[in-house]
Amino acid sequence: MNYFKKTLITFTLTHFIFCSWLFAQAPASDHKVPQENQAVLDRISADSLRGHLSFIASDLLEGRGTPSRGQDIAAEYIAAQFRRAGLEAVGDDGYFQTANWVQTAPNTEGFALTLRRAKQVIKVNSQQVSFASDQALNIPRALLFKVDFKDTEALKKLKAEQLKGKIIITEIPDFRREDRSKWGEMFRAQNTFLTTIRALNPALIVSIDRLTTNGAGIGAKRLIDPERRSNANQPMPFLTLHDAAVVKLFDAMKPGASLTSLSLNLPAAIEQPVKLRNVVGLLRGSDPELKDTYVLVTAHYDHVGTQAGGEGDRIFNGANDDGSGTVSVIELASALTKRATRPKRSIVFMCVFGEERGLLGSRYYGRHPIFPIAKTVADVNLEQVGRTDDLEGAQVNRASLTGFDFSDVGEVFKQAGELTGVTVFKHPRNSDAFFGRSDNQALADQGVPAHTLCVAFEYPDYHGLGDHWEKVDYDNMARINRMVGLGLLMIADNPVAPKWNEANSKTSRYVEAWKKQQGK
Ligand SMILES: [Zn+2]
Repeated sequence: MNYFKKTLITFTLTHFIFCSWLFAQAPASDHKVPQENQAVLDRISADSLRGHLSFIASDLLEGRGTPSRGQDIAAEYIAAQFRRAGLEAVGDDGYFQTANWVQTAPNTEGFALTLRRAKQVIKVNSQQVSFASDQALNIPRALLFKVDFKDTEALKKLKAEQLKGKIIITEIPDFRREDRSKWGEMFRAQNTFLTTIRALNPALIVSIDRLTTNGAGIGAKRLIDPERRSNANQPMPFLTLHDAAVVKLFDAMKPGASLTSLSLNLPAAIEQPVKLRNVVGLLRGSDPELKDTYVLVTAHYDHVGTQAGGEGDRIFNGANDDGSGTVSVIELASALTKRATRPKRSIVFMCVFGEERGLLGSRYYGRHPIFPIAKTVADVNLEQVGRTDDLEGAQVNRASLTGFDFSDVGEVFKQAGELTGVTVFKHPRNSDAFFGRSDNQALADQGVPAHTLCVAFEYPDYHGLGDHWEKVDYDNMARINRMVGLGLLMIADNPVAPKWNEANSKTSRYVEAWKKQQGK
């Protein structure tokens, strides 16, 4: 039996007994929503959502990259709105949960790369190199050993003794220049090659590129969580040289050992401290026991920043992705805090950083939960809830959840939709395919039934310069917010928590994680 259907009956009966006088006035579509919930949902307004989003997605915030001043301003704005709503500040710094991380920047000072063959000396500058690692490297002088990337037979015969202290020089084709259909195959070939060579433990692997004399430079701009910095041996990096003289030298070399040498000094990347923030506020529950359980409503407030170079608009405003989810969390906080009686369970409103760089903020929360994960009954993550112009056709009064039938949560929102005039459905392909594409994944990995709710899976301007706030359908977004608000209250007022659907084999790892949290 599906408990949530029973809840619905309870809602309806309660309503019938206490509020039957309303039937005459209330529109047919919402006559089943209990009055105190309806009063709260009525506070959600299109104008309010438009007002918030026109700021969050404004050019001032410069695309809210992680990390950036624009993102910091967004965080401060969200915190101000949580304060206005009267949420409890539950972070380490008011509403902020602070991640003290490190950002690396390339360090070219002291960089030197020289090849020598008899009297010929080739000096390569740091812009003619691509090196996507922040490791420091110092190789005073080592002989080159040429390997033909395509000669898999010769590769198999190589022995570690031959390569000891030597630098491999080869030509690894850049798959990104080829047609996408070839990427998978080329990437696998590159991986096989590198794995074989690394196992033989040479001093370094160098690849040449004959198509350009401009490299990506040295050192990756990376965000590092110092707590997770691994001391384990990182795989040996490979360095690409974009230099015509080196190509000429390479072509003149025969496969195998050579008398050409290379010396390299690659300084360690510069590290700068950076503060990243999740913004978290709490609406404390009212039930003596259930108040210590939590329903999460989340959205990522970061986006991808700005485009380097070029003319005209270079700001990725990210109005729909995910300014729309962010301002929905704000609007829901503002509305749900106004209910006459607080929900039984506590509701946690959270906007996270760094989704676009790999679910950084939500994973950080997963490792540093403010409230016990074992007591967190669901996460409803809001993404792309503003635009209705899905590439598959207009999505007005419609919404979907990822992993729709992975847990009971989808069914709750389907029913909340029926009560608020929104069709909440399982998308035949995207619901499962998009499950891992947003922050719900980070919570699901911890065992929390977690889904992303969205209106348009794919829309024009996705990660484009034209994702502007003016293109959002605010009346529709307000209706979606009312549906979400009701669904959240249904979960928060229900003494039975949502569960993973164990009958669906795609949930097995999440069920495992959930059991571990529950000590089962
Ligand atoms: Zn997004």
